[in-house]
Amino acid sequence: MNLDEILKKTEGAKLIAVSKNVDTDAVLNLYAQGQLDFGENRVQELKRKSEILSNLKLNWHFIGRLQSNKINQLIALRPILWQSCESLKMAHEVNKRLDYKLPCLLQINSARELSKQGVEPERAIDEYEQILAECHNLELCGVMSIGAHENNENLIRESFETTRKIFDALSSKGAKICSMGMSDDFELAIKCGSNMVRLGRILYN
Ligand SMILES: *Cc1c(COP(=O)(O)O)cnc(C)c1O
Repeated sequence: MNLDEILKKTEGAKLIAVSKNVDTDAVLNLYAQGQLDFGENRVQELKRKSEILSNLKLNWHFIGRLQSNKINQLIALRPILWQSCESLKMAHEVNKRLDYKLPCLLQINSARELSKQGVEPERAIDEYEQILAECHNLELCGVMSIGAHENNENLIRESFETTRKIFDALSSKGAKICSMGMSDDFELAIKCGSNMVRLGRILYN
């Protein structure tokens, strides 16, 4: 689908173009149409693409699992938003190495899937408050979640609603971003209150 069509469907939510499975020519193609925000899920690949495209003013989001041995590299790349802070422990690991304020989101495992990273919904509010209180180099500004990996729309909706409720409860603590929705489920995610979608496949076919 082309970018204009996608932007019509995502109105009200900010579009992050996930470029993890495409090369820099595809990023350039979207940039030429006005897209500035891109997401990568591996530090090495974020480094590679952002260096190749360093003459462009792109906003890079890190959306993947962060291995401890890649923390310094990620920090050096100064992403616009680290969307995948998966725990208080990881927040502390990154916080203690930072020498500037890094915007980030707390990832919530609302679908309770073992394959997914993120804080359990029951613990999310507590951990969010603890990160706010203890990690002063992180600028925690919301939540991120991946919808249930299911064909049953009700289960996907439930996982989004779980995240949305946590986001609402955190709005008094300054939460502004609710990042949820991928190629297969972004319209549902927006209906459930997402204000940031991360789209990959649908942008490139
Ligand atoms: C790959 C990925 C996306 C995009 O997925 P598509 O199904 O290609 O739209 C979004 N969020 C995260 C965390 C991802 O890893």
